[in-house]
Amino acid sequence: MEKVTPMLRQYLEIKKSYPGTLLFFRLGDFYEMFNEDAVIGARELQITLTARQKDSPNPIPMCGVPHHAAASYISKLVRKGYRVAICEQAEPAGKGTKLVRREVVRVITPGTSIDEQLVEPTESIFLAAIAFVADRIGAAFLDISSGEILTTETEEKDGWEAIIQHIERFSPREILVETQHKHLISNKLGYLDLAASFVNENREVTPSPNGTSVTEIEGFADLKESAENLKRHFNVRELSGFGLDEHPAAVVAASECLRYAKNTQKTSAIHISELRFIDNSDFLVLDAVTLANLEILKPRTDGPRRTLISIIDETITAMGGRLLRSWLLRPLVKRSEIMTRQEAVAELFQPILREELRFYLKNVTDLERIIGRLHVGTMPARDLLALERSLAQVPSIIDLLQDTRSPLLQVLVENMFELPEIREIISTAIVDEPPANLSDGGIIRDGFNPELDELRSISLSVKSAIASFEQNERERSGISTLKVRYNNVFGYYIEVSKAQLSRAPDDYERRQTLANAERFTTPQLKEWEAKVLGAEEKIAAIESRIYSEILETVRNETTRLRSTARAFATLDALASLAETAARRNFVAPSIHESDEIEIVKGRHPVVEANIRDEFVPNDVYLNNSTYRLLVITGPNMGGKSTLLRQVALIQILAQIGSFVPAASARLPIVDRIWTRVGASDDLASGRSTFMVEMTETAAILHNATPRSLILLDEIGRGTSTFDGLSIAWAVAEYLHNSVDRAAKTIFATHYHELTELAENLPGAKNYQMAATEDRGDVVFLHRLEKGKASKSYGIAVAKLAGLPQPVIDRARSVLQKLEKYELAIFADEHEKDRGIATAAGRSATIQNSLFAIANEAVIEELRHAEIENLSPNEIKQLVEDIKRKIV
Ligand code: ATP
Repeated sequence: MEKVTPMLRQYLEIKKSYPGTLLFFRLGDFYEMFNEDAVIGARELQITLTARQKDSPNPIPMCGVPHHAAASYISKLVRKGYRVAICEQAEPAGKGTKLVRREVVRVITPGTSIDEQLVEPTESIFLAAIAFVADRIGAAFLDISSGEILTTETEEKDGWEAIIQHIERFSPREILVETQHKHLISNKLGYLDLAASFVNENREVTPSPNGTSVTEIEGFADLKESAENLKRHFNVRELSGFGLDEHPAAVVAASECLRYAKNTQKTSAIHISELRFIDNSDFLVLDAVTLANLEILKPRTDGPRRTLISIIDETITAMGGRLLRSWLLRPLVKRSEIMTRQEAVAELFQPILREELRFYLKNVTDLERIIGRLHVGTMPARDLLALERSLAQVPSIIDLLQDTRSPLLQVLVENMFELPEIREIISTAIVDEPPANLSDGGIIRDGFNPELDELRSISLSVKSAIASFEQNERERSGISTLKVRYNNVFGYYIEVSKAQLSRAPDDYERRQTLANAERFTTPQLKEWEAKVLGAEEKIAAIESRIYSEILETVRNETTRLRSTARAFATLDALASLAETAARRNFVAPSIHESDEIEIVKGRHPVVEANIRDEFVPNDVYLNNSTYRLLVITGPNMGGKSTLLRQVALIQILAQIGSFVPAASARLPIVDRIWTRVGASDDLASGRSTFMVEMTETAAILHNATPRSLILLDEIGRGTSTFDGLSIAWAVAEYLHNSVDRAAKTIFATHYHELTELAENLPGAKNYQMAATEDRGDVVFLHRLEKGKASKSYGIAVAKLAGLPQPVIDRARSVLQKLEKYELAIFADEHEKDRGIATAAGRSATIQNSLFAIANEAVIEELRHAEIENLSPNEIKQLVEDIKRKIV
């Protein structure tokens, strides 16, 4: 059997306790990886794979990264979905062969790390856990930077819908699942493509395309233990205060998030101080499809300024930016809450107030992340200075907002704390430009600690004595090139070149021989060296002690710091909404509890930003009775999709408390916005266009309520004309007729037949995006008008798109013939038979006409065939040809 060195034995021992991680094992100035970890590490980091015990029959694969550059390697691995356990030397390397004690100080994981290199400033990082208790499914989401756990629960019989929606909305970086449930969960979340991302012991991970990785935990704690864990951490006797007493699965999920954060970060994580039960009914629900369709946070295709957030984000701080994003993902549904925000935005709309506030916010840093780093990970000294500078803004901001009327602004003022003691200690203790690492020394100001000052002055005076010693020795020995230097191995030494060696004084004691020089010391130099090194060791110890004490003092103020950070972020987000409103000419919508949507001169904020003055505003009116289904026809490129999205965006903006892009707006409170946009492939999930479209349409028909807003853009396009039209027809009719579900619906379509439907249903109305034709060219007016589009302009748009002229000409002649056939058939049709019969009949006719047109050429060929001159074989051939050509 292979002999295992004590060091490797130690490695294997530690590795056993951290399954599923890559173990970074500190050896001197390097972190080394061994065995499978080394193979993965070398591959993922593109570094050289070497081996230990190279010449033995079983060499051990190994690779390593220098410790000073480790952060970027670690972040690369974590971004790829790996978890990295950092194992440090737990005691100074002693003399001799004794093995240094080592221990894992932290496990860096995708969902718990907020080190600067790992996360974008505006990106929220969530760790999730999914737990089962009896027939309930719970999910919890921990935001390690803001220290907040949101947890939710649903009954299994109600399905996964609600849980999946939460997961989509939070898009956690990492999901904790219990081993026994991993297959079930990966099936349920299958379309998130999580299945491939399980991190097994040492196995390759492929995080899902949306960047979520799954971490398997062998067994979650049971309910009792989980509840105890939460009570202990939050220091409460009951969980009812958090609304959790009836939600066992939510309790287990929340507790697992907390436990994992503590275990990996090796801290007590006291900054995690908020726990909240959330429910889908607490927010306006925007599912992943809708978020993507409306391009709220992410563009569907690349390109500048496509998303809503890119247009409305005027925040100054990263935490304000994150908060604004979370508002967009979870708009409000209580009128009082919406109005509270809106009133604050309205007050900050005043230019002077707003500008001054934003001026102060420029000095505010990402306090939330700093507080996070104060508790998990490492906190560089410049974070403390940034924290001090942020706190310094508090008095000015309080002063500025003191007399505002908005209750929300008043609450924020009450929740901001200057914390003068903290400011004082930071500004008196920390130098203006501290080095990046504590170990570099020089972080603490002179004058802060007498002992430190004294040691520094000793070190300084000895160093200056050594400097003049060099000069003296040159003079004494007559060696002009004599040098006094320092290195880590030999300490201080006198260096004399080989050529000058004969002139070295007798009292020099030899220390080291180099190729071209000799190194010496003297009793005096040794004495100084001992003094300097002794002093510097003490200096480092004192600096590190003072630094830890300051961190501890700051940590003790976590609650008030968090409250201040949250207030800054909220002010920033509110001021951003006000700034956007002012810059982009938005107005305050009136929000009511009834059902009407009435938008006057509404605009699409993103399209408008891109085309400026040319945007044509439109009025839209919807209610739950006579205007509950708007069927919109019009040419391609006419602006149908823009109009649909514009209504949704205005509604969303209103429900986050923002002003809206319109001349005026009266809006209800919507519980959910559904969008379905036809003909977009979901290749990633391997489902066909049509299947995707129908799955989503089914979800809408099953779940929409009278308070929902539904936007359907060309559904039914992914199949044959007949099927598509029939489905679109039935869907529209169903939405209109199901009284208990009569949600407000806008239906943009190319199927002109659907306008017949709208004419016959009392709650449906026909609208068109107006266009005219000018000598064969279509002119888009982008104006929404009552009535149905008289023609589809498809050919005119095709011409605009540059289809060759012969194709355009042929299409026109086909169209003319189709219209002629249609006219002939319907010439004597009775008025009362309109509706389905008309539309379906017309479509059937169109289909027949198409056959006739396609067969025209064959008929011509037959007509001109000179049968009498053909041989029987040629006739046979002709018949076969014709058979092949006819449709
Ligand atoms: P299709 O049927 O081909 O999907 P559509 O009718 O949905 O077309 P949109 O995609 O909404 O058309 O709009 C096409 C383009 O027209 C937009 O990119 C925009 O540049 C312009 N547009 C849309 N609405 C307006 C408007 N109200 N004012 C000015 N320009 C507009």
